Amino acid sequence: MRVLITGGAGFLGSALAHRLVADGHHVRVLDDLSAGNPERLPPEALFTRGDVRDRPKLWTLLQGVQCVFHLAARVSVAESVAYPREYNDVNVGGTVALMEAMRDVGVHRVVLASSGTVYGDQPRQPVDETMRPNPLAPYAVSKIAAEYYVFTLGRLYDIETVALRIFNAYGPGQPIPPVHAPVIPQFLRQALNGGSLVVFGDGTQTRDFVYIDDVVEALISAAMAPDVDRQIINVGSGEEVSINTLVRMIGKITGRRLSVLYNEKQSGGVSRLVANLEKARVLLGYQPRVDLQKGLQKLLAEDDRFRPKQVTETPPNEPT
Ligand code: NAD
Repeated sequence: MRVLITGGAGFLGSALAHRLVADGHHVRVLDDLSAGNPERLPPEALFTRGDVRDRPKLWTLLQGVQCVFHLAARVSVAESVAYPREYNDVNVGGTVALMEAMRDVGVHRVVLASSGTVYGDQPRQPVDETMRPNPLAPYAVSKIAAEYYVFTLGRLYDIETVALRIFNAYGPGQPIPPVHAPVIPQFLRQALNGGSLVVFGDGTQTRDFVYIDDVVEALISAAMAPDVDRQIINVGSGEEVSINTLVRMIGKITGRRLSVLYNEKQSGGVSRLVANLEKARVLLGYQPRVDLQKGLQKLLAEDDRFRPKQVTETPPNEPT
């Protein structure tokens, strides 16, 4: 396949690019580098810097492409509260621009990276795709709007569309921004540096942490699978883990005694969130392979930022 990954220089996109190139596909990447880093990409991937709303650029990049993985987005829930217009412009406007350009060029399939965040608080867990979304921040609203746009425009323009609601992904290379950092790399770094782990709320809130390789597998299956047109599909681990349990696992895996501070004034977000994966299993043959314990171990082993620093001793001078 020849594919385009929008947002392909980001955390998930670059891992996807590596896997697609390794499988022998031709990969093009469009990314404005607002958060991405092209050095993460395999040399075989053709990188173009640009905005996903730039339709003339898309017309060029979409020539000969069979499938688009649409990952370009602003991705911070907390930041979206302060900048809802920006989130709407990029996440919704970018999706509409892409669909128009796909129509113009005649590209017939897109996989949208949506988010488990769209569920918000729900009366029961695990959440499945039939439940009514309950967005609690502009980021979640932008993802639901993007889902509706790809499905509606896809139907009108004869483009096959599928939206994966990805839960909390983690893995090597995940950026740790100075504010609103994702919890796993943030906690690991604090644990290894001897700092305090700051837990928002009381730590009983649960999440579904999914290892990056499983997300990549699901994205690729979604591009290839028959009968997924206009389907929403959850992609998580199916494991419900509280933040307190995560802290304990990080203590065990790093072998450090952790100092944990609870900031109960700051909301820990929704009280529970875990994915029902039945639809992913049926439509994509999806089966998460890396549980949290194994994923944390892989992360420690594979991400240089979390490896214990080697003390390089200069050998003493040989007597001459
Ligand atoms: P990321 O920030 O690493 O990747 C997003 C990429 O999009 C970045 O490289 C950024 O530079 C690029 N980008 C942003 N605005 C752009 C624009 N206007 N034009 C072109 N490129 C632009 O985040 P990620 O974690 O890799 O997320 C990838 C996608 O998956 C996003 O759509 C995100 O909403 C979705 N998602 C991620 C997770 C997760 O846990 N990582 C969970 C659910 C959904």
